[in-house]
Amino acid sequence: MLESVLRSLGLGEVNSGVCGARWFETPGGAEVESINPATGRPIARVKMGSMADYSRVVDESRAAFEGWRRVPAPGRGEVVRQLGQALRDRKRELGLLVTLESGKVRSEGEGEVQEMIDMCDFAVGLSRQLHGLTIASERPGHRMMEQWHPIGPVGIITAFNFPVAVWAWNAAVAAVCGDSTVWKPSPQTPLTAIAVHRIAHEVAEANGFPGVYSLCAGGAEIGAAMADDGRFPLVSATGSCRMGREVARAVAGRLGRSLLELGGNNAVIVTPKADLGLALRAVAFAAVGTAGQRCTTLRRLILHDSIADAFLGRLARAYASIRIGDPWEDGVLMGPMIDEAAVGAMMRALEAARAQGGTVVCGGNRLDRPGFFVEPTIVRADPSMPIVAEETFAPILYAMTYRDLDEALAIQNGVEQGLASAIFTDSVTEAERFLSAEGSDCGIANVNIGTSGAEIGGAFGGEKATGGGREAGSDAWKAYMRRQTCTINGGRGLPLAQGVRFEVDAT
Ligand code: NAD
Repeated sequence: MLESVLRSLGLGEVNSGVCGARWFETPGGAEVESINPATGRPIARVKMGSMADYSRVVDESRAAFEGWRRVPAPGRGEVVRQLGQALRDRKRELGLLVTLESGKVRSEGEGEVQEMIDMCDFAVGLSRQLHGLTIASERPGHRMMEQWHPIGPVGIITAFNFPVAVWAWNAAVAAVCGDSTVWKPSPQTPLTAIAVHRIAHEVAEANGFPGVYSLCAGGAEIGAAMADDGRFPLVSATGSCRMGREVARAVAGRLGRSLLELGGNNAVIVTPKADLGLALRAVAFAAVGTAGQRCTTLRRLILHDSIADAFLGRLARAYASIRIGDPWEDGVLMGPMIDEAAVGAMMRALEAARAQGGTVVCGGNRLDRPGFFVEPTIVRADPSMPIVAEETFAPILYAMTYRDLDEALAIQNGVEQGLASAIFTDSVTEAERFLSAEGSDCGIANVNIGTSGAEIGGAFGGEKATGGGREAGSDAWKAYMRRQTCTINGGRGLPLAQGVRFEVDAT
Protein backbone atom coordinates (compact mmCIF):
# COMPACT_ATOMS: atom_id res chain seq x y z
CA MET A 1 0.00 0.00 0.00
CA LEU A 2 2.75 2.41 0.99
CA GLU A 3 4.66 2.11 -2.30
CA SER A 4 1.56 2.62 -4.43
CA VAL A 5 0.49 5.68 -2.43
CA LEU A 6 3.94 7.24 -2.69
CA ARG A 7 4.18 6.41 -6.39
CA SER A 8 0.75 7.80 -7.22
CA LEU A 9 1.71 11.09 -5.54
CA GLY A 10 4.97 11.29 -7.47
CA LEU A 11 7.04 10.71 -4.33
CA GLY A 12 8.78 7.60 -5.63
CA GLU A 13 11.58 9.60 -7.19
CA VAL A 14 11.19 13.01 -5.58
CA ASN A 15 11.38 13.46 -1.87
CA SER A 16 13.25 16.69 -1.72
CA GLY A 17 12.49 19.14 1.04
CA VAL A 18 13.07 22.31 -0.96
CA CYS A 19 10.54 23.14 -3.57
CA GLY A 20 10.08 26.57 -4.96
CA ALA A 21 10.23 27.50 -8.58
CA ARG A 22 12.96 24.85 -9.03
CA TRP A 23 11.21 21.72 -8.02
CA PHE A 24 13.82 19.09 -8.83
CA GLU A 25 16.83 20.75 -7.32
CA THR A 26 18.60 18.71 -4.65
CA PRO A 27 18.45 20.47 -1.30
CA GLY A 28 21.57 20.79 0.83
CA GLY A 29 20.17 20.17 4.31
CA ALA A 30 20.14 17.13 6.58
CA GLU A 31 18.35 13.89 5.73
CA VAL A 32 15.55 12.90 8.13
CA GLU A 33 13.41 9.80 8.35
CA SER A 34 9.67 10.12 8.06
CA ILE A 35 8.31 7.58 10.56
CA ASN A 36 4.99 5.73 10.45
CA PRO A 37 3.76 6.16 14.06
CA ALA A 38 1.62 3.02 13.82
CA THR A 39 4.70 0.82 13.29
CA GLY A 40 7.60 2.96 14.46
CA ARG A 41 9.28 2.14 11.13
CA PRO A 42 10.52 4.62 8.49
CA ILE A 43 8.36 5.44 5.46
CA ALA A 44 11.03 7.35 3.56
CA ARG A 45 14.15 9.44 3.93
CA VAL A 46 13.62 13.12 3.18
CA LYS A 47 16.27 15.74 2.39
CA MET A 48 15.61 18.98 4.26
CA GLY A 49 16.44 22.44 2.99
CA SER A 50 19.64 24.14 4.11
CA MET A 51 19.82 27.79 5.16
CA ALA A 52 21.16 28.66 1.70
CA ASP A 53 18.23 26.82 0.08
CA TYR A 54 15.85 28.66 2.38
CA SER A 55 17.23 32.04 1.47
CA ARG A 56 16.99 31.30 -2.26
CA VAL A 57 13.40 30.05 -1.93
CA VAL A 58 12.41 33.27 -0.15
CA ASP A 59 14.03 35.37 -2.89
CA GLU A 60 12.07 33.41 -5.50
CA SER A 61 8.88 33.87 -3.52
CA ARG A 62 9.47 37.62 -3.38
CA ALA A 63 10.04 37.70 -7.13
CA ALA A 64 6.85 35.69 -7.71
CA PHE A 65 4.92 38.10 -5.50
CA GLU A 66 5.80 41.01 -7.81
CA GLY A 67 3.90 39.40 -10.70
CA TRP A 68 1.16 37.67 -8.71
CA ARG A 69 -0.05 40.82 -6.97
CA ARG A 70 -0.81 42.37 -10.37
CA VAL A 71 -3.19 39.55 -11.34
CA PRO A 72 -6.80 40.62 -10.66
CA ALA A 73 -8.12 38.83 -7.56
CA PRO A 74 -10.73 36.76 -9.49
CA GLY A 75 -7.89 35.56 -11.77
CA ARG A 76 -5.99 34.47 -8.67
CA GLY A 77 -9.18 32.76 -7.54
CA GLU A 78 -9.23 30.76 -10.78
CA VAL A 79 -5.77 29.32 -9.97
CA VAL A 80 -6.99 28.40 -6.47
CA ARG A 81 -10.09 26.79 -8.05
CA GLN A 82 -7.78 24.58 -10.11
CA LEU A 83 -5.80 23.73 -6.97
CA GLY A 84 -9.03 22.63 -5.24
CA GLN A 85 -9.83 20.41 -8.23
CA ALA A 86 -6.33 18.88 -8.25
CA LEU A 87 -6.69 18.07 -4.54
CA ARG A 88 -10.14 16.57 -5.16
CA ASP A 89 -8.62 14.30 -7.83
CA ARG A 90 -6.02 13.00 -5.32
CA LYS A 91 -8.16 13.04 -2.17
CA ARG A 92 -7.94 9.32 -1.48
CA GLU A 93 -4.14 8.98 -1.87
CA LEU A 94 -3.42 12.18 0.03
CA GLY A 95 -5.75 11.10 2.83
CA LEU A 96 -3.89 7.79 3.06
CA LEU A 97 -0.56 9.59 3.24
CA VAL A 98 -1.86 11.81 6.08
CA THR A 99 -2.92 8.60 7.86
CA LEU A 100 0.42 6.87 7.25
CA GLU A 101 2.57 9.77 8.38
CA SER A 102 0.52 11.37 11.19
CA GLY A 103 -1.37 8.29 12.48
CA LYS A 104 -4.85 9.81 12.04
CA VAL A 105 -7.62 7.33 11.29
CA ARG A 106 -8.69 7.11 7.63
CA SER A 107 -11.81 9.29 7.88
CA GLU A 108 -9.79 12.00 9.63
CA GLY A 109 -6.97 11.71 7.08
CA GLU A 110 -9.43 12.18 4.22
CA GLY A 111 -11.26 14.81 6.25
CA GLU A 112 -8.08 16.82 6.38
CA VAL A 113 -7.79 16.75 2.59
CA GLN A 114 -11.47 17.73 2.36
CA GLU A 115 -10.65 20.70 4.58
CA MET A 116 -8.06 21.85 2.04
CA ILE A 117 -10.64 21.49 -0.74
CA ASP A 118 -13.21 23.43 1.31
CA MET A 119 -10.66 26.18 1.90
CA CYS A 120 -9.99 26.43 -1.85
CA ASP A 121 -13.74 26.69 -2.56
CA PHE A 122 -14.09 29.35 0.12
CA ALA A 123 -11.12 31.30 -1.23
CA VAL A 124 -12.49 31.22 -4.81
CA GLY A 125 -15.66 32.96 -3.58
CA LEU A 126 -13.60 35.33 -1.51
CA SER A 127 -11.60 36.35 -4.58
CA ARG A 128 -14.63 38.39 -5.70
CA GLN A 129 -15.38 39.82 -2.26
CA LEU A 130 -12.17 41.47 -1.04
CA HIS A 131 -14.08 44.65 -0.45
CA GLY A 132 -13.38 47.78 1.55
CA LEU A 133 -15.62 50.46 3.05
CA THR A 134 -16.57 53.89 1.84
CA ILE A 135 -16.66 56.37 4.69
CA ALA A 136 -18.48 59.70 4.91
CA SER A 137 -15.99 62.57 4.81
CA GLU A 138 -16.51 65.67 6.96
CA ARG A 139 -15.00 67.83 4.22
CA PRO A 140 -17.10 69.13 1.29
CA GLY A 141 -16.24 67.56 -2.07
CA HIS A 142 -14.16 64.81 -0.42
CA ARG A 143 -14.55 61.05 -0.41
CA MET A 144 -12.96 58.49 1.88
CA MET A 145 -12.51 54.81 1.23
CA GLU A 146 -10.58 51.81 2.41
CA GLN A 147 -8.86 49.47 0.03
CA TRP A 148 -6.97 46.26 0.65
CA HIS A 149 -3.70 45.40 -1.08
CA PRO A 150 -1.55 42.27 -1.07
CA ILE A 151 0.95 42.42 1.78
CA GLY A 152 3.85 40.38 0.37
CA PRO A 153 5.32 36.91 0.80
CA VAL A 154 3.84 35.15 3.83
CA GLY A 155 5.82 32.65 5.91
CA ILE A 156 3.73 29.68 7.05
CA ILE A 157 4.97 27.44 9.89
CA THR A 158 2.76 24.41 10.61
CA ALA A 159 2.47 21.72 13.29
CA PHE A 160 2.48 17.93 12.83
CA ASN A 161 -1.10 17.32 13.93
CA PHE A 162 -2.73 19.09 10.99
CA PRO A 163 0.05 18.47 8.49
CA VAL A 164 -1.77 19.99 5.50
CA ALA A 165 -5.13 21.57 6.45
CA VAL A 166 -3.52 24.47 8.33
CA TRP A 167 -1.32 25.19 5.32
CA ALA A 168 -4.49 25.47 3.21
CA TRP A 169 -6.19 27.78 5.73
CA ASN A 170 -3.30 30.15 5.13
CA ALA A 171 -2.18 29.43 1.59
CA ALA A 172 -5.58 29.38 -0.17
CA VAL A 173 -6.62 32.71 1.37
CA ALA A 174 -3.18 34.31 1.02
CA ALA A 175 -3.11 33.38 -2.69
CA VAL A 176 -6.41 35.08 -3.54
CA CYS A 177 -5.25 38.07 -1.48
CA GLY A 178 -2.26 38.36 -3.88
CA ASP A 179 0.44 37.00 -1.59
CA SER A 180 3.00 34.34 -2.37
CA THR A 181 3.73 31.88 0.47
CA VAL A 182 6.68 29.90 1.78
CA TRP A 183 5.70 26.89 3.84
CA LYS A 184 7.82 25.31 6.55
CA PRO A 185 5.99 22.14 7.54
CA SER A 186 6.57 20.08 10.66
CA PRO A 187 9.72 17.93 10.41
CA GLN A 188 7.52 15.06 11.64
CA THR A 189 5.28 15.14 8.55
CA PRO A 190 7.51 16.24 5.64
CA LEU A 191 6.27 13.74 3.05
CA THR A 192 2.64 14.82 3.27
CA ALA A 193 3.74 18.43 2.92
CA ILE A 194 5.92 17.65 -0.09
CA ALA A 195 3.09 15.74 -1.80
CA VAL A 196 0.63 18.62 -1.31
CA HIS A 197 3.19 21.23 -2.23
CA ARG A 198 4.01 19.38 -5.43
CA ILE A 199 0.36 19.54 -6.49
CA ALA A 200 0.10 23.25 -5.63
CA HIS A 201 3.34 24.03 -7.42
CA GLU A 202 2.25 22.20 -10.59
CA VAL A 203 -1.03 24.13 -10.70
CA ALA A 204 0.70 27.47 -10.14
CA GLU A 205 3.40 26.71 -12.73
CA ALA A 206 0.84 25.61 -15.34
CA ASN A 207 -0.76 29.03 -14.93
CA GLY A 208 2.59 30.81 -15.41
CA PHE A 209 3.23 31.62 -11.76
CA PRO A 210 5.88 29.22 -10.39
CA GLY A 211 6.99 30.38 -6.98
CA VAL A 212 3.56 31.50 -5.76
CA TYR A 213 3.62 28.39 -3.56
CA SER A 214 7.01 27.50 -2.11
CA LEU A 215 8.15 25.07 0.53
CA CYS A 216 11.28 24.68 2.59
CA ALA A 217 11.22 21.59 4.80
CA GLY A 218 13.36 21.77 7.91
CA GLY A 219 13.39 22.00 11.67
CA ALA A 220 12.92 24.83 14.11
CA GLU A 221 15.97 26.64 12.71
CA ILE A 222 14.14 27.35 9.42
CA GLY A 223 11.07 28.56 11.36
CA ALA A 224 13.27 30.81 13.50
CA ALA A 225 14.91 32.20 10.35
CA MET A 226 11.44 33.03 8.98
CA ALA A 227 10.52 34.87 12.17
CA ASP A 228 13.69 36.98 11.89
CA ASP A 229 13.39 37.53 8.15
CA GLY A 230 12.34 41.04 7.10
CA ARG A 231 11.37 39.67 3.65
CA PHE A 232 8.20 38.30 5.33
CA PRO A 233 5.83 41.12 6.34
CA LEU A 234 3.64 38.40 7.88
CA VAL A 235 4.56 35.12 9.56
CA SER A 236 1.72 32.74 10.35
CA ALA A 237 2.80 30.17 12.94
CA THR A 238 0.86 27.19 14.28
CA GLY A 239 2.23 25.14 17.15
CA SER A 240 2.94 25.15 20.85
CA CYS A 241 2.75 28.24 23.07
CA ARG A 242 6.52 27.86 23.61
CA MET A 243 7.15 28.17 19.86
CA GLY A 244 4.64 31.03 19.55
CA ARG A 245 6.36 33.06 22.26
CA GLU A 246 9.67 32.79 20.40
CA VAL A 247 8.16 33.62 17.01
CA ALA A 248 6.13 36.52 18.44
CA ARG A 249 9.20 38.03 20.10
CA ALA A 250 11.33 37.78 16.94
CA VAL A 251 8.65 39.13 14.56
CA ALA A 252 7.71 41.97 16.93
CA GLY A 253 11.41 42.83 17.30
CA ARG A 254 11.50 43.75 13.60
CA LEU A 255 8.00 45.28 13.75
CA GLY A 256 6.55 42.65 11.45
CA ARG A 257 3.16 41.00 11.82
CA SER A 258 2.57 37.55 13.25
CA LEU A 259 -0.56 35.43 13.11
CA LEU A 260 -0.40 32.88 15.92
CA GLU A 261 -2.44 29.69 16.37
CA LEU A 262 -1.07 28.07 19.51
CA GLY A 263 -1.90 25.55 22.20
CA GLY A 264 -5.29 25.04 23.79
CA ASN A 265 -6.50 23.69 27.13
CA ASN A 266 -10.10 23.23 26.17
CA ALA A 267 -13.01 22.60 28.51
CA VAL A 268 -16.57 21.33 28.41
CA ILE A 269 -19.11 22.17 31.13
CA VAL A 270 -21.93 19.64 31.56
CA THR A 271 -24.84 20.93 33.62
CA PRO A 272 -27.65 18.88 35.21
CA LYS A 273 -29.96 20.33 32.53
CA ALA A 274 -28.01 18.70 29.68
CA ASP A 275 -29.00 15.82 27.42
CA LEU A 276 -26.38 13.54 28.98
CA GLY A 277 -26.33 11.03 26.10
CA LEU A 278 -25.53 13.82 23.65
CA ALA A 279 -22.89 15.24 25.99
CA LEU A 280 -21.28 11.84 26.42
CA ARG A 281 -20.89 11.18 22.69
CA ALA A 282 -19.46 14.66 22.12
CA VAL A 283 -17.03 14.37 25.03
CA ALA A 284 -15.76 10.99 23.83
CA PHE A 285 -15.01 12.30 20.31
CA ALA A 286 -13.47 15.56 21.52
CA ALA A 287 -11.24 13.87 24.12
CA VAL A 288 -10.19 10.70 22.25
CA GLY A 289 -10.36 11.62 18.53
CA THR A 290 -6.97 12.07 16.82
CA ALA A 291 -5.50 10.36 19.94
CA GLY A 292 -5.91 13.62 21.87
CA GLN A 293 -3.62 15.45 19.44
CA ARG A 294 -5.82 18.28 18.23
CA CYS A 295 -5.34 21.85 19.40
CA THR A 296 -9.08 21.72 20.19
CA THR A 297 -8.96 18.34 21.98
CA LEU A 298 -11.08 18.31 25.13
CA ARG A 299 -8.69 18.28 28.08
CA ARG A 300 -10.87 19.44 31.00
CA LEU A 301 -14.35 18.13 31.74
CA ILE A 302 -16.27 20.24 34.27
CA LEU A 303 -19.25 18.28 35.61
CA HIS A 304 -21.94 19.40 38.02
CA ASP A 305 -21.35 17.39 41.18
CA SER A 306 -24.89 15.96 41.11
CA ILE A 307 -24.15 14.11 37.84
CA ALA A 308 -20.39 13.56 38.00
CA ASP A 309 -20.19 9.96 39.28
CA ALA A 310 -22.86 8.59 36.94
CA PHE A 311 -21.49 10.50 33.94
CA LEU A 312 -17.92 9.32 34.53
CA GLY A 313 -19.10 5.71 34.95
CA ARG A 314 -20.85 5.84 31.55
CA LEU A 315 -17.88 7.61 29.96
CA ALA A 316 -15.43 4.99 31.22
CA ARG A 317 -17.66 2.29 29.67
CA ALA A 318 -17.69 4.21 26.37
CA TYR A 319 -13.88 4.51 26.50
CA ALA A 320 -13.61 0.72 26.96
CA SER A 321 -15.54 0.20 23.70
CA ILE A 322 -13.21 2.40 21.61
CA ARG A 323 -11.17 0.37 19.15
CA ILE A 324 -7.51 1.39 19.15
CA GLY A 325 -5.29 0.15 16.34
CA ASP A 326 -3.90 0.61 12.85
CA PRO A 327 -5.39 3.89 11.68
CA TRP A 328 -6.07 2.64 8.14
CA GLU A 329 -8.29 -0.25 9.35
CA ASP A 330 -12.06 0.20 9.21
CA GLY A 331 -13.69 0.58 12.61
CA VAL A 332 -10.59 1.86 14.37
CA LEU A 333 -11.40 5.10 16.21
CA MET A 334 -8.04 5.86 17.77
CA GLY A 335 -4.60 5.53 16.17
CA PRO A 336 -1.15 6.07 17.62
CA MET A 337 0.49 9.13 19.07
CA ILE A 338 3.03 10.83 16.83
CA ASP A 339 6.26 9.55 18.37
CA GLU A 340 8.10 8.14 21.37
CA ALA A 341 8.56 11.61 22.90
CA ALA A 342 4.77 12.17 22.85
CA VAL A 343 4.20 8.87 24.70
CA GLY A 344 6.87 9.87 27.24
CA ALA A 345 5.22 13.29 27.77
CA MET A 346 1.87 11.60 28.40
CA MET A 347 3.35 9.18 30.95
CA ARG A 348 5.17 12.01 32.75
CA ALA A 349 1.94 14.05 32.90
CA LEU A 350 0.10 11.08 34.44
CA GLU A 351 2.84 10.66 37.05
CA ALA A 352 2.55 14.36 37.89
CA ALA A 353 -1.24 14.10 38.08
CA ARG A 354 -1.04 11.19 40.54
CA ALA A 355 1.60 13.02 42.61
CA GLN A 356 -0.67 16.09 42.74
CA GLY A 357 -3.64 14.09 44.07
CA GLY A 358 -5.36 12.93 40.86
CA THR A 359 -6.89 9.46 40.48
CA VAL A 360 -6.87 7.53 37.21
CA VAL A 361 -10.45 6.45 36.42
CA CYS A 362 -9.51 4.40 33.33
CA GLY A 363 -6.61 3.99 30.91
CA GLY A 364 -3.15 5.26 31.75
CA ASN A 365 -1.07 2.63 29.96
CA ARG A 366 0.97 2.24 26.83
CA LEU A 367 -0.14 -0.63 24.60
CA ASP A 368 2.24 -3.55 24.25
CA ARG A 369 2.75 -3.44 20.48
CA PRO A 370 5.05 -1.69 17.99
CA GLY A 371 4.35 1.99 17.31
CA PHE A 372 3.24 4.66 19.73
CA PHE A 373 -0.11 3.47 21.05
CA VAL A 374 -1.62 4.44 24.42
CA GLU A 375 -4.95 4.02 26.19
CA PRO A 376 -7.21 7.07 26.33
CA THR A 377 -7.22 8.13 29.95
CA ILE A 378 -9.58 9.84 32.40
CA VAL A 379 -8.18 11.36 35.59
CA ARG A 380 -10.35 12.63 38.48
CA ALA A 381 -8.66 15.93 39.26
CA ASP A 382 -8.94 19.20 41.13
CA PRO A 383 -8.68 22.48 39.20
CA SER A 384 -5.88 23.61 41.53
CA MET A 385 -3.53 20.84 40.32
CA PRO A 386 -0.74 22.53 38.29
CA ILE A 387 -0.73 19.77 35.64
CA VAL A 388 -4.36 20.57 34.76
CA ALA A 389 -3.29 24.05 33.65
CA GLU A 390 -0.84 22.60 31.12
CA GLU A 391 -1.59 21.38 27.61
CA THR A 392 -0.27 17.81 27.46
CA PHE A 393 -0.71 16.85 23.81
CA ALA A 394 -2.17 13.41 24.60
CA PRO A 395 -5.53 11.72 25.25
CA ILE A 396 -5.74 12.64 28.94
CA LEU A 397 -9.06 14.03 30.17
CA TYR A 398 -9.10 15.73 33.58
CA ALA A 399 -12.56 15.46 35.15
CA MET A 400 -13.53 18.04 37.77
CA THR A 401 -16.74 19.04 39.54
CA TYR A 402 -18.54 22.31 40.23
CA ARG A 403 -21.55 23.47 42.30
CA ASP A 404 -22.80 26.58 40.44
CA LEU A 405 -22.27 28.00 36.98
CA ASP A 406 -20.10 30.88 38.22
CA GLU A 407 -17.70 28.34 39.67
CA ALA A 408 -17.76 26.28 36.44
CA LEU A 409 -16.93 29.38 34.39
CA ALA A 410 -14.14 30.35 36.77
CA ILE A 411 -12.61 26.87 36.34
CA GLN A 412 -13.11 26.99 32.57
CA ASN A 413 -11.45 30.42 32.24
CA GLY A 414 -8.80 29.78 34.87
CA VAL A 415 -6.00 28.68 32.52
CA GLU A 416 -3.65 30.72 30.35
CA GLN A 417 -4.88 29.25 27.04
CA GLY A 418 -8.15 30.39 25.43
CA LEU A 419 -8.94 28.28 22.37
CA ALA A 420 -12.13 26.14 22.48
CA SER A 421 -14.91 25.73 25.03
CA ALA A 422 -18.42 24.29 25.20
CA ILE A 423 -21.41 23.93 27.46
CA PHE A 424 -23.97 21.13 27.41
CA THR A 425 -27.34 22.30 28.66
CA ASP A 426 -30.96 22.53 27.51
CA SER A 427 -31.38 25.74 29.54
CA VAL A 428 -31.39 28.91 27.44
CA THR A 429 -30.41 30.88 30.52
CA GLU A 430 -27.31 28.77 31.14
CA ALA A 431 -26.34 28.76 27.44
CA GLU A 432 -26.71 32.55 27.15
CA ARG A 433 -24.70 33.10 30.34
CA PHE A 434 -21.93 30.91 28.86
CA LEU A 435 -21.93 32.98 25.62
CA SER A 436 -22.17 36.38 27.36
CA ALA A 437 -19.27 38.79 27.90
CA GLU A 438 -18.86 37.35 31.42
CA GLY A 439 -18.96 33.79 30.06
CA SER A 440 -16.34 31.80 28.17
CA ASP A 441 -13.17 33.77 27.41
CA CYS A 442 -12.21 31.53 24.47
CA GLY A 443 -12.06 32.20 20.73
CA ILE A 444 -14.50 29.31 20.19
CA ALA A 445 -17.58 28.84 22.39
CA ASN A 446 -20.10 26.10 21.54
CA VAL A 447 -23.45 25.01 22.90
CA ASN A 448 -24.34 21.31 22.79
CA ILE A 449 -21.44 20.37 20.54
CA GLY A 450 -17.91 19.48 21.60
CA THR A 451 -14.72 21.53 21.38
CA SER A 452 -13.15 19.94 18.30
CA GLY A 453 -14.13 19.69 14.63
CA ALA A 454 -14.57 23.33 13.56
CA GLU A 455 -15.98 24.24 10.14
CA ILE A 456 -13.90 26.42 7.84
CA GLY A 457 -16.61 29.08 7.36
CA GLY A 458 -15.91 30.63 10.76
CA ALA A 459 -12.77 32.46 11.85
CA PHE A 460 -10.71 29.91 13.76
CA GLY A 461 -8.41 30.76 16.66
CA GLY A 462 -8.10 31.51 20.33
CA GLU A 463 -7.41 34.20 22.88
CA LYS A 464 -4.79 34.68 25.61
CA ALA A 465 -1.79 32.34 25.29
CA THR A 466 -3.40 30.67 22.26
CA GLY A 467 -2.09 33.70 20.41
CA GLY A 468 -5.09 35.75 19.30
CA GLY A 469 -4.85 34.80 15.61
CA ARG A 470 -7.82 34.04 13.38
CA GLU A 471 -7.58 31.91 10.24
CA ALA A 472 -9.84 30.28 7.64
CA GLY A 473 -13.31 31.81 7.21
CA SER A 474 -15.27 35.00 8.07
CA ASP A 475 -13.04 38.07 7.63
CA ALA A 476 -9.78 36.30 8.55
CA TRP A 477 -8.53 37.28 5.05
CA LYS A 478 -7.83 40.79 6.31
CA ALA A 479 -4.71 39.48 8.10
CA TYR A 480 -3.18 38.67 4.69
CA MET A 481 -3.59 42.15 3.21
CA ARG A 482 -2.57 45.68 4.03
CA ARG A 483 -5.31 48.23 4.59
CA GLN A 484 -5.06 51.60 2.89
CA THR A 485 -7.25 54.54 3.84
CA CYS A 486 -7.67 56.89 0.87
CA THR A 487 -9.12 60.39 0.87
CA ILE A 488 -9.91 61.91 -2.53
CA ASN A 489 -10.54 65.61 -2.99
CA GLY A 490 -12.86 66.16 -5.95
CA GLY A 491 -13.05 69.95 -5.54
CA ARG A 492 -10.79 72.99 -5.75
CA GLY A 493 -11.01 73.91 -2.06
CA LEU A 494 -8.65 72.54 0.57
CA PRO A 495 -10.65 72.40 3.81
CA LEU A 496 -8.74 70.83 6.69
CA ALA A 497 -10.16 68.24 9.07
CA GLN A 498 -11.25 69.28 12.57
CA GLY A 499 -11.69 72.88 11.32
CA VAL A 500 -7.95 73.55 11.36
CA ARG A 501 -7.04 76.70 9.39
CA PHE A 502 -3.76 77.09 7.50
CA GLU A 503 -4.00 79.77 4.84
CA VAL A 504 -0.93 80.53 2.71
CA ASP A 505 -0.51 82.83 -0.23
CA ALA A 506 -0.23 80.43 -3.19
CA THR A 507 0.03 83.09 -5.93
P1 NAD B 1 5.71 22.66 17.88
O1 NAD B 1 5.58 23.99 18.54
O2 NAD B 1 6.72 21.72 18.44
O3 NAD B 1 6.12 22.86 16.33
C1 NAD B 1 5.27 23.55 15.44
C2 NAD B 1 6.10 24.09 14.28
O4 NAD B 1 6.96 25.14 14.77
C3 NAD B 1 7.03 23.06 13.63
O5 NAD B 1 7.05 23.29 12.24
C4 NAD B 1 8.38 23.37 14.27
O6 NAD B 1 9.49 22.94 13.49
C5 NAD B 1 8.30 24.88 14.40
N1 NAD B 1 9.15 25.48 15.44
C6 NAD B 1 9.49 24.94 16.63
N2 NAD B 1 10.23 25.83 17.34
C7 NAD B 1 10.32 26.95 16.59
C8 NAD B 1 10.94 28.23 16.78
N3 NAD B 1 11.62 28.52 17.89
N4 NAD B 1 10.80 29.15 15.82
C9 NAD B 1 10.09 28.88 14.69
N5 NAD B 1 9.51 27.68 14.44
C10 NAD B 1 9.62 26.72 15.38
O7 NAD B 1 4.26 22.00 17.84
P2 NAD B 1 3.84 20.54 17.37
O8 NAD B 1 4.25 19.55 18.41
O9 NAD B 1 4.23 20.30 15.95
O10 NAD B 1 2.23 20.67 17.38
C11 NAD B 1 1.46 20.60 18.51
C12 NAD B 1 1.13 21.98 19.06
O11 NAD B 1 0.53 22.78 18.06
C13 NAD B 1 0.11 21.92 20.19
O12 NAD B 1 0.48 22.85 21.18
C14 NAD B 1 -1.19 22.32 19.51
O13 NAD B 1 -2.17 22.82 20.38
C15 NAD B 1 -0.70 23.35 18.55
N6 NAD B 1 -1.63 23.55 17.44
C16 NAD B 1 -2.40 24.67 17.45
C17 NAD B 1 -3.34 24.87 16.44
C18 NAD B 1 -4.24 26.09 16.44
O14 NAD B 1 -4.84 26.34 15.40
N7 NAD B 1 -4.37 26.82 17.53
C19 NAD B 1 -3.46 23.93 15.41
C20 NAD B 1 -2.65 22.81 15.42
C21 NAD B 1 -1.73 22.64 16.45
